[in-house]
Amino acid sequence: MKDQDSTIITKQKENFSTYLSRYEKTLTELFSSNLNVFETSVNRGIPGLVMRDILECKPLSVFIPEEYEGRGTDTAECLKVLEVSSYHSLPLSLMVGINGALFLQPLSLYGQESKKESVYYDFIHNRKMGGLMITEPGYGSDALHMQTSYTESGNGFDIKGTKHWAGLTGWADYWLLTARKQDDKGNLGRDIDFFIHSTQADGGIEVEEVFNNLGLFMLPYGRNVIDTTVNTDSKLVPRTTGVKMMLDILHRSRMQFPGMAMGFIKRNLDEAISHCKDRFVGGKSLLEYDQVQERISKIQAAFTTCSAMCAFTSINASMSHDLARADIQANTIKTLMSDYMQETSQSLLQLVGAKGYKQEHIAGKGTIDSRPFQIFEGSNDILYQQITESVVKAMRRAKLTNLFSFLKDHELSAHSSSILKDTLNFDIDYTLSQRKLVELGRALSRVFSMNFVIQLGESGFRSDLIQNALNHLAQEAGTHINAYAGKQELSVIVDYTEDSNWASYLK
Ligand SMILES: Cc1cc2nc3c(=O)[nH]c(=O)nc-3n(C[C@H](O)[C@H](O)[C@H](O)COP(=O)(O)OP(=O)(O)OC[C@H]3O[C@@H](n4cnc5c(N)ncnc54)[C@H](O)[C@@H]3O)c2cc1C
Repeated sequence: MKDQDSTIITKQKENFSTYLSRYEKTLTELFSSNLNVFETSVNRGIPGLVMRDILECKPLSVFIPEEYEGRGTDTAECLKVLEVSSYHSLPLSLMVGINGALFLQPLSLYGQESKKESVYYDFIHNRKMGGLMITEPGYGSDALHMQTSYTESGNGFDIKGTKHWAGLTGWADYWLLTARKQDDKGNLGRDIDFFIHSTQADGGIEVEEVFNNLGLFMLPYGRNVIDTTVNTDSKLVPRTTGVKMMLDILHRSRMQFPGMAMGFIKRNLDEAISHCKDRFVGGKSLLEYDQVQERISKIQAAFTTCSAMCAFTSINASMSHDLARADIQANTIKTLMSDYMQETSQSLLQLVGAKGYKQEHIAGKGTIDSRPFQIFEGSNDILYQQITESVVKAMRRAKLTNLFSFLKDHELSAHSSSILKDTLNFDIDYTLSQRKLVELGRALSRVFSMNFVIQLGESGFRSDLIQNALNHLAQEAGTHINAYAGKQELSVIVDYTEDSNWASYLK
């Protein structure tokens, strides 16, 4: 669209804080005072009227460029919308995140202009939604070996394959489909390509099975059989290779996890403080117990660390940054935030006690809903391993073996490593076992996160919260370094059933 038009739209754009307050007010009304709360917490799907009211606020517009009537693609605005959503409902925030990070942002960065206009129009005016299909039954963590294939035909691209676990299965109006090119002999190429698919215009995606997902009831999942043809202009155009484009898309999405985590962790913190203030056990409020203080101060540290990551992402993951090489940042942020989401909800559930174990209670629900964040978009075990591998690779290149010597000059740990000098001052082997890579990755993610927190502190964020987060992160880094150092190569006894029934050995 022309510059003149976009200037007019910019001028008319509602101030962001007014827009956000309006969205927040709508969610507060929908999720706290209405009958629908109950419905959305224990029933699957989301009532049409609730969905209508949410989409009326156009939360997805923050992911749409201004020239297409969106609010622009400012990363901080995207994170704030995710945060406000997850304070009220984690599934809702994930729904916004799927549409935003896994469909609209890739379209904006790599879509062909001829396609953008109609798709964005549909999102803004017709409340349409989109998701991303990567995972296949045989290829999840090993997605690069996916079997979904495409060939070029006169009409565009013919795509065939089976995908499962894509968020918004059966609901989305648009999909980003991923596939490998098939040559004349039937061999699949090594690169991955992305295609925009319209359910209405292209068809050819059949939901073969709808899954009974354990949590996140608002979102439908299932298995899809794909046999479709999309137009030539549906193909995303990578800057170099498709795999680098996929890395940019996935790293960008991982770096926006703190948006979803922010509201969720803040809610856990608010619920924990309010419950423990009011609940009296043994004649005193729970808040007065030392162990309770420890739990809540840890939730508070997660709140501050998450805030620091939001600030970092806002500045360092704008749409103008190519994030294909930002693996350490993205993997640190995704692993730690998803671990903290799970830990804070587990802690809240512990503090609330039996009441929290009701399916509709925020503590129990949050524990189940946050668990898959540790699995999807890269299993945390694998991502922690990759953090260490990246560090070891760089150390090898720099011909360094002392971890502190390397980290003190690294841009992501220059500030934090000095606080942890004694803990990090040891030599590492370039060939570590996988379990050691993972454990060291856990420690490194804490070191890098401390750096984010220090930077947030320097910009004026409350100093007592900063200090609390640094203390917790330093303590965790130390614990993981100790575990790394003491790790034994214990193996599984697969055939363990013989001579292993305790009742046979009663004397
Ligand atoms: C709620 C939910 C939402 C999802 N949303 C989407 C979506 O929108 N789009 C989409 O395409 N997919 C989605 N997924 C799929 C998700 O990305 C995959 O489940 C994930 O990539 C893991 O693949 P998998 O389930 O096949 O597990 P596997 O690849 O079988 O891995 C299972 C586990 O094995 C271990 N493991 C695997 N490989 C290694 C290794 N190399 N080293 C050590 N351990 C290893 C890890 O512990 C891992 O967690 C979603 C999944 C869930 C549960």
